[in-house]
Amino acid sequence: MSYIQNWESSLHKIHKALRREIALSLEVIRGSAVFLNRLCGKSNCRCMKGHKHRSLYLSRSLKGKTSMRYIPHKYEDKVVEASGRYRRIQNLLNGLSEATLKKLIAKKDQ
Ligand SMILES: [Zn+2]
Repeated sequence: MSYIQNWESSLHKIHKALRREIALSLEVIRGSAVFLNRLCGKSNCRCMKGHKHRSLYLSRSLKGKTSMRYIPHKYEDKVVEASGRYRRIQNLLNGLSEATLKKLIAKKDQ
């Protein structure tokens, strides 16, 4: 397989994976889902004795600043899933961009 055919094949593979990932769901969320342990502030709560509450936050950059948004328990699974999907799509898109550039440059150099 030639150098160009190699990149052509990469392009098709990545494009297929990207289409599959996008077709899985409408829901994507940009940001990192992070679990943090926190104190609720109630003086007689178990968290004051070391059993902290575990809560999900969405960490993302907004206008150059990192924002942390609390995610209610009932949305945790959806947010973890949708942020993972966004990251996979972004990685595939970056891969597609690199493969496209390498394919074009390889063609030009022939
Ligand atoms: Zn508490």
